[in-house]
Amino acid sequence: MNNQNSKKLILRALDEYLSKELNSNAHRRLLLHCCCGPCSTSVVDLLNKYFDVTLYFSNSNMDSLDEFNLRYQNAKIVADKYNIPIIMDDYTPESYYEKVAGLEHLGEKSLRCYECYKMRMVRTAEFAKNNDYDLFTTTISVSPHKLSDWINEIGEELAKKYDIEFLYSNFKLRDGYKKSIIISKELELYRQEYCGCVYSKQERGGSDE
Ligand code: SF4
Repeated sequence: MNNQNSKKLILRALDEYLSKELNSNAHRRLLLHCCCGPCSTSVVDLLNKYFDVTLYFSNSNMDSLDEFNLRYQNAKIVADKYNIPIIMDDYTPESYYEKVAGLEHLGEKSLRCYECYKMRMVRTAEFAKNNDYDLFTTTISVSPHKLSDWINEIGEELAKKYDIEFLYSNFKLRDGYKKSIIISKELELYRQEYCGCVYSKQERGGSDE
């Protein structure tokens, strides 16, 4: 399937899914993994109309506790703006270094990132299952640097494993990324210049997550 068709299918699936949610009036509980404030903005703006959203900040990939705390504080600004709860997971960088052992220098969009998405999505699926959420997903796909096919593949696998629904997504589509920049500027959020791990800091000095 070419990239354009894949984008259309994801958008159609998301549209159908959201329209069912709207018509059902159920307002189900969605646990939304977030990587930072800016990536949460346009995704929360969209999903908050359809679900009872809780943000879940689980990011042991961060290169330092200071960076972890700074990104959490900015995600909290978004949670407060939309009046939704936010939960912070523990910062356990050793769990990240274990997952990416041997993959450290492969660069962004490599297997290293696959393992990094998966580590954070596993934490989210587990928390969602243990705390009676109806479904889970992540804001990660809003970034142009992140591969939504991998995120959706991991989400599908975890949905089966934990017996909980996963919301397929590619939140960068329909100007999701552009909107995230606009809202981030309005809220004066910290927009980081690297993805998060120590390797991304060394590799890139240019673009935010
Ligand atoms: S570049 Fe980003 S997604 Fe990839 S391993 Fe580092 S923090 Fe994770």
